[in-house]
Amino acid sequence: MERWLDGRVAAVTGAASGIGRATAQLFAAEGARVVIVDQDAPGGDATAHLIHAAGGEAIAVRADVSLAAEVGAAIRTAVAHFGRLDAIFNGAGLSGRRWGDGPVAECTEEAWDRVMAINLKSVFLGCKYAIPEMLKAGGGAIVNLSSVLGLVGGDADFATHAYAASKGGIISLTRAIAAYYAPQGIRANVICPGLIATPMSRRAQDSLHIRSRLAQLQPLTGDFGHPDDVAHAALYLASDQARFVTGAVLTVDGGWTVH
Ligand code: NAD
Repeated sequence: MERWLDGRVAAVTGAASGIGRATAQLFAAEGARVVIVDQDAPGGDATAHLIHAAGGEAIAVRADVSLAAEVGAAIRTAVAHFGRLDAIFNGAGLSGRRWGDGPVAECTEEAWDRVMAINLKSVFLGCKYAIPEMLKAGGGAIVNLSSVLGLVGGDADFATHAYAASKGGIISLTRAIAAYYAPQGIRANVICPGLIATPMSRRAQDSLHIRSRLAQLQPLTGDFGHPDDVAHAALYLASDQARFVTGAVLTVDGGWTVH
């Protein structure tokens, strides 16, 4: 039976963990040859092993996605190894709380700069280096990972304003790319997850207070989402099933933003 990404080569950033890992595994299970891009080399290798063990094809490339030279080199490695690039999932990102991200009046300049570099500049760089390769392949699919906090303001429990701004920027960048490159066969879409159970959301998972709010925040399940919930949305958007879809902002949030 034909799989959704048979014959495709896909780069997945942030694939050493969480949502990126689940997406890399699902893309590979659906036939893609996957390039795992992450600064965590052991984690990237572990994802590659999981994919190989399941009969899939993948290579892991270590790169800091906030650095142009490293992203450019990762994309060149992908094309050198697999001969083409059809899709990129820009999933690497983090919370800047460790550097003092918070409400804007308290957010440190360091947190702002680091979060913008790792969450937003990284998406710019991934697209910048992937698009020329996609044009050579006759078109392609970009899937960028934002957040519900790129769409709506958070209350005191979710007041990290550099993070919110970086995720809002991803939405604007994705839609600008979608509009400009549509005539050249490149689609660009963005996913906005709610709270998903990954290492990044450990603080929230360990908080009885946040857990007690889940029925109100994510009423569909009253629980955290699973990385696979996001991976399946990414699979759809990366595949030809979404051939007529570009510039979409797809929430995967258990109902967070619907009310
Ligand atoms: P995670 O911590 O499990 O995975 C993030 C991955 O990104 C890690 O493998 C990490 O090594 C990598 N990474 C971080 N900085 C990097 C850098 N400079 N260069 C290369 N790789 C880097 O977290 P996750 O929850 O899977 O998060 C993935 C994305 O999903 C992030 O962009 C996050 O903002 C977004 N997101 C997560 C949630 C959630 O609740 N978990 C909700 C909405 C959006």
